[in-house]
Amino acid sequence: MSTPGIVYESNSGERQTAFPCFCCGICCSDYQVHLELTEAKEIADRLGVSLQNFLDDYTDPRWLGIDSYLLRHNAGRCVFLEQEQGSATGLCRIHAFKPIACRQWSASPYRRECRQGLLRYWGLSVDDEGKIVGSAEALQCFQSFLETFK
Ligand code: SF4
Ligand code: SF4
Repeated sequence: MSTPGIVYESNSGERQTAFPCFCCGICCSDYQVHLELTEAKEIADRLGVSLQNFLDDYTDPRWLGIDSYLLRHNAGRCVFLEQEQGSATGLCRIHAFKPIACRQWSASPYRRECRQGLLRYWGLSVDDEGKIVGSAEALQCFQSFLETFK
């Protein structure tokens, strides 16, 4: 009998619905996003602030790159991530014009960060075939949560 679970992408090559980002914010906390100057200017424009203000307020002064920057972290997470302590979801304040690195990043059952989010906030894990597994109650809860994204 197969284990109950949710399948999005499987190692067997059968591709199901793409694994959804469930906005746990782990990737926005584990990494500091890299930006080139052009990108920094674009985001500053969209925020309606000068480049210098953007650099002062939102980038990490410890980074020594020339015309390249790292987004600053506050309290262990990206300065643009809004997430209450202990909340299962966070929101990116610049989602509509977030950095290229963030747009190119996609959620996957094979990513350590997404697995960590599943475990920490939903009590779920991923088996060797990429199936999300856990108690029936936890799976139901997670499924219902995903429905709210549709
Ligand atoms: S800019 Fe948005 S998506 Fe990118 S790391 Fe920060 S909060 Fe996450
Ligand atoms: S770790 Fe995965 S699920 Fe969590 S926010 Fe990042 S991409 Fe989305």
